[in-house]
Amino acid sequence: MLTDQKIQNIANQSLLLGDLSDDELAEFCIVANQYYRDGRPIVSDQDYDFVFLAELLKRTPDHFLFNRPEPENEGFSEEKVKLPERMISIDKAYTWGEIQKWLDRVNKASLEINLPSEGIRIKGTAKLDGFAGYDDGNRLYTRGDGNKGSDISRVFERGLSVYNDSARGQGPGEIVVKKSYFESHLSEHFEYPRNFQASLIKEKALDQYASQAIADKAALFVPFSQLPSWSGDIESFSAHFQSIVSELESGVDFDVDGVVFELTNVQLKSHMGSNRKFHRWQIAFKENKDKAQVRVLSVTAQVGRTGKITPVAELEPTQLSGATIYRATGHHYGLVKEQGLGEGSIVELTRSGLVIPKINKVLKSVEVSIPESCPSCQSELTWESDFLMCLNHDDCPDQIIGCMAYFFKILANNDGFGLASIQKLYENNIRKVSDIYQLSHSDLTAMSFGDKTAKNLLNQLARSTQESIEDWRFLAAFGVLRLGMGNCENLLKHKPLGEIFDLSVDDVVNMDGFAEITAKLIIEGLEEIKEEFRVLKAFGFALESTQLISNSANFDHPFFNKQIVFTGKMSHPRADLQKQGKSLGIKVATSVNSKTDFLIIGENVSITKLNTAKEKNVVILKESDYLSIIENNSL
Ligand SMILES: [Zn+2]
Repeated sequence: MLTDQKIQNIANQSLLLGDLSDDELAEFCIVANQYYRDGRPIVSDQDYDFVFLAELLKRTPDHFLFNRPEPENEGFSEEKVKLPERMISIDKAYTWGEIQKWLDRVNKASLEINLPSEGIRIKGTAKLDGFAGYDDGNRLYTRGDGNKGSDISRVFERGLSVYNDSARGQGPGEIVVKKSYFESHLSEHFEYPRNFQASLIKEKALDQYASQAIADKAALFVPFSQLPSWSGDIESFSAHFQSIVSELESGVDFDVDGVVFELTNVQLKSHMGSNRKFHRWQIAFKENKDKAQVRVLSVTAQVGRTGKITPVAELEPTQLSGATIYRATGHHYGLVKEQGLGEGSIVELTRSGLVIPKINKVLKSVEVSIPESCPSCQSELTWESDFLMCLNHDDCPDQIIGCMAYFFKILANNDGFGLASIQKLYENNIRKVSDIYQLSHSDLTAMSFGDKTAKNLLNQLARSTQESIEDWRFLAAFGVLRLGMGNCENLLKHKPLGEIFDLSVDDVVNMDGFAEITAKLIIEGLEEIKEEFRVLKAFGFALESTQLISNSANFDHPFFNKQIVFTGKMSHPRADLQKQGKSLGIKVATSVNSKTDFLIIGENVSITKLNTAKEKNVVILKESDYLSIIENNSL
């Protein structure tokens, strides 16, 4: 039996794998899995799969952990009930080579039933990282051991919605929380989405966060059949594998743990069948992310525009997914304080694709000293949970510089106003973006900008007001807390830009998508920027108005307020069609489901997609017909 201390040491990698016996390793995997299922993970999913489980598989491939679905529902007191349908695990592949082996088996099986290889259809969907369940329309069950699970129908009684507002009874799925919502509303209170998901299901009464997330339809049951999918034959699957995977993974606003591929040919599926562990016609692909253990040369504190102090580590140069990494940031100062991130420590660095590398955790810690005063303004720093903050928002140079630079960055229709030039403006007593717009050529040269640079900066300022930008982007550039681009767009769908300063907290709460805490912060933040907003707007930016949801009078075409989906190769860029559609009051979606009204088709549309659309009574129109209807009705 492993002691708690030993489990902790293995989890934080101070006890290395080489020092563990096979039994100890297996026991650790079981314990770590149990914590994960209970919503209190002690290691990351990545580490569990690629470090611990991978090592166990190498040592003891016959271990029972690899022979049964992982139990999900221990911890509930209810009696186990038989599931309406068996839910077994999915075989996993981590490389393209392993996927190819699966394709070989599929090809061999298709030969055995005389199905030509071109006739094999593969369907892919994102693999959600939630809490698995089965909804038979009457009750909701946990997956349990795959045969018997617990009845957790209480989750629906608590008001949980089904994804896409679709019906109950669609079989297997996952209870999940929207990623964007978790980040904006819950990440301060829960470390991982899974910790929060567990609180939705538990037997005791819901806490305020869970009730609110259910009310906001941010916590949902997602039947697999409702997920956006890719489908095609083996040839296009093989040719576009990487882009299919990344499109599916980024196509949903939920945490994703890979992609599931399965065959759709009924005959082939029944011929391939299942073994005790998994269906042979289905496979999950999980990408192995690049990781390295790196020595820290030094750590410096950086002040962000919101006053958050971020640790920036200079690293021993390290190769990671094709690039040499010299520095990386830690998420917050808690890493420094709790984990001893400092000069001489060893950290685990991960990088996936081209994303900026991040320090996940400290493997070997050192004694550190925590800065007591802000490196920019010397005010005393304050802890807000894991975050070290400078609260001197009005006078802290780095925060003021950060806010001004943020404005130009979000506007994104200009060049030249990066941190370096803004820093120089700050040194010359510029404190507000509106001051920058009032500068003349002689002002700039007096600040020791060269003649050419001064001209360029003035041109860029003019360009930023003349090039048209969406009004939500303009509003987001002010950097109000909780008013990122998504929330700005949503806000302006309900209220025109000219009227947002008249909004009350109640008005905002009544809009779809805003909880009360967020609404309060937004109203406070708007009050603070009111004057600067008025002054800046008077410089005459070319703002495109967001289409109001309620504004129906302007549109006299059959697609108004209807949901449409584009599919196939179109004669216009897809993005342009989507933009045009939205501007005409059309709801543009990316996948066909029961809420879809029209499917607009280009060339090379898959039969599967057409059949799905027909089954759901979706009206199918050619792109050219769609465009001529719009032209004849909306002009
Ligand atoms: Zn400061």
